[in-house]
Amino acid sequence: MHVHTKYSGDSRMEPADIVRIAKKKGLTGIAVTDHNTIKGGIEASENREGVNVIVGAEIMTDYGEVIGYRLNQEIKSRRIEEVIDEIKQQGGLVSVPHPFDTVRKGAIDQIKLGEIADRLDFVETRNARSFWFSNDKAARFAAEHNLPGLGGSDAHMAFEIGRCSTVFKDEEKMIVDHVEGASNPLYPLYPLLRTKFYKTFHI
Ligand SMILES: [Zn+2]
Repeated sequence: MHVHTKYSGDSRMEPADIVRIAKKKGLTGIAVTDHNTIKGGIEASENREGVNVIVGAEIMTDYGEVIGYRLNQEIKSRRIEEVIDEIKQQGGLVSVPHPFDTVRKGAIDQIKLGEIADRLDFVETRNARSFWFSNDKAARFAAEHNLPGLGGSDAHMAFEIGRCSTVFKDEEKMIVDHVEGASNPLYPLYPLLRTKFYKTFHI
C-alpha cells in the first residue's frame, strides 16, 4: 500500500519492475504512492501483469503528508483540506502515512491530524521504515477513531517491497482484514552503506 518509483525523485525503481517483483514475492496487489504525482502508478497499472495496481500519490501538504488511493488525476493543491477534497472528488480514498513518525519531516501535524480524522478512510499503522513505537501510536489512533489500519513497505528500493503489507477481506472494496510484516527502519540503510562501500573502494 506504499511503494515509490523513479517518479518520486528519491527512488530509482521502474514501475514495470515493481509489478514484476511484487508478483514474484506473491503479492496480489500493490499501491504505487509516489511523492506528489500519479505518474508511477499510471505506468505500473499499464504493466499490471495480473497484479492489482492501485494508483496513488503521497502528497506533501502544508501540514505533512497525506496519501490518496485510486486516483486518476494529479492532485493540484498542497493545502491539506483541499488535497482531501480533490482526492474525494475523483472517488479516491484518503490515508495518512506514518502519522506519528516525528523523526520524519513528512509526518503530519498532530493537531491537524485530530481535525481531519473524520475525513480519513485509513491510517497507515505499520510502515516498514518506521520504529515500532511510532507504528503502535498510529494503531492506537486508528482504533480510537474506528479507522482501518494499513501496512505498507514505503519501499524505495526493490528488496523492500512487501516488507509490510495489508491483507484485505475484500480487495476490490478495500476492506481490511489485518496488516502483516515487521518494521525495522534501519534495514533499508544496509544496502545503501554497502553501495557506498563498493563505490568508494571500487570493488
Ligand atoms: Zn513514502
